Amino acid sequence: MKYKSISFIQNYLTQIITEEYNSIIDNISKDYNINSSYLKNKYINKKNISYNISNNINLSIRCSGIIKSGCQCARTRKSNSLFCKIHQKTLKFGKIIL
Ligand SMILES: [Zn+2]
Repeated sequence: MKYKSISFIQNYLTQIITEEYNSIIDNISKDYNINSSYLKNKYINKKNISYNISNNINLSIRCSGIIKSGCQCARTRKSNSLFCKIHQKTLKFGKIIL
């Protein structure tokens, strides 16, 4: 279950992307003899990256059902559906408009 949770996927993608951009920046830093932390500070916005990842996850794999509190359901979608196992059967509080 842990491996299918939204936050696991979000952290996993953030980690992969972070490693990838660090390696790219380090290579550019070596090739052009520029300080790598200067490049990272100037060109990489970590808040934007995690915002984009969570936004994409919410639109593509997170259940579109709304829970009692009015928030979007935090479960993953079942294949070929917009909803998780529970919200496939009933949408008591409605769904997110896409
Ligand atoms: Zn759901």
